[in-house]
Amino acid sequence: MVDRTAQPRTAPRKLTILGATGSIGQSTIDIVRAHRDRFCIEALVANSNVERLAKDAVDLKARVAVVADETRRDELATRLDGTGIEAAAGLTAVCEAAQRPVDLVMAAIVGASGLKPTLAALETGATMCLANKECLVSAGDLFMRTARRCGADVIPVDSEHSAIFQCFEARNAGSVDAITLTASGGPFRRTAMEDLRSVTCADALKHPNWSMGRKITIDSATLMNKGLELIEAAHLFPVGVDKLSAVVHPQSIIHSMVSYVDGSVLAQLGVPDMRTPIAWAMAYPERIDTTVDRLDLAEIAQLTFENIDNDRFPAVGLCLNALKRGANATTILNAANEIAVAEFLAQRIGFLDIPALVEDTLNAAERQSMIVPLGSLDDVWAADSYGRSVAGELAHKLH
Ligand code: NDP
Ligand code: MG
Repeated sequence: MVDRTAQPRTAPRKLTILGATGSIGQSTIDIVRAHRDRFCIEALVANSNVERLAKDAVDLKARVAVVADETRRDELATRLDGTGIEAAAGLTAVCEAAQRPVDLVMAAIVGASGLKPTLAALETGATMCLANKECLVSAGDLFMRTARRCGADVIPVDSEHSAIFQCFEARNAGSVDAITLTASGGPFRRTAMEDLRSVTCADALKHPNWSMGRKITIDSATLMNKGLELIEAAHLFPVGVDKLSAVVHPQSIIHSMVSYVDGSVLAQLGVPDMRTPIAWAMAYPERIDTTVDRLDLAEIAQLTFENIDNDRFPAVGLCLNALKRGANATTILNAANEIAVAEFLAQRIGFLDIPALVEDTLNAAERQSMIVPLGSLDDVWAADSYGRSVAGELAHKLH
């Protein structure tokens, strides 16, 4: 996946951030601000938050700033007037920005809408710091094939995959016994099934350990996030699906582990702060300072573990089944989940409806013989829109 013998570079690395105004994008910008001698910004991309985007573009002296939402074009242009920073809008402009020559791209758009720009960036051969896990869930084989063809290194940003990446001995890949992802368990780890029916959106948005964007925070509450991460791991670390599993670890101190045939288990630890895996991906193979709190194990005192309750949190099983089913099943699953989460955030469906909608969409796809191999990107879009439309119809019936 990555040339681990790569030499440290001394010149500043040119960086493009896709999803610059989001949680990961802003943490990335924190690292850039702390290391202005190491990183310089080429392009900043967002969906519609022109105010944040323009401020950061000016402060970081970006060459170009782009919003996907075309209705914000004039506002962005006005805010950047006289700064010398190019302003643009629309999906084509987003993909063009993603293709500007750089050393590093931070892929931090949320959802499958990040796939096109992220693939465009991959085509340039730039090192890909990958946060946008939905790219791998929707189109993992195609994504990793494109990376290999274009010679682009893919460095995971997701904290679990960053941990695995740091513990994974490529030379001993054949001796890996198991990869175990940790899960915080989310805000409803102790909530009884009957109470899960009535939890609110505000309850679900209160993650105990991590501060993140809204979509991934809901995914963490349903544990769909852990399922998506198992699919992500299957593409990044192809040791076989049966070697992948997840365990609940409420303190979120151990970020994941790799077990080897000799009985050794390598784990990566740290306080739950995304700036650590982001800094690691950006500076790889070096390590750079962050202001992240240092780990004090005596103060934490206890690290605990428990199995995932598959009855209350069926999403992990749904993801593993889709992964084993192969073909376009995970593309359809991802699309259905994006619709279900949006419906829940709009308070039109209940919390337990989220995994139910995903399961019903996959069952419909199976019945309608819509689970078919993914040959091309067009097949990905077809499966994605199928999943969205079926899940949308099913959600409508619940309103
Ligand atoms: P946020 O919702 O905080 O941010 C999403 C970013 O994507 C924003 O900059 C948003 O712009 C932009 N965006 C949304 N849609 C589009 C579009 N169509 N075109 C261009 N830009 C778009 O999400 P997070 O930062 O939390 O998550 C980003 C990704 O990283 C997700 O895939 C998530 O699963 C993954 N991840 C996140 C972690 C975290 O700690 N947050 C941890 C591990 C993985 P705007 O602000 O204008 O809407
Ligand atoms: Mg994660």
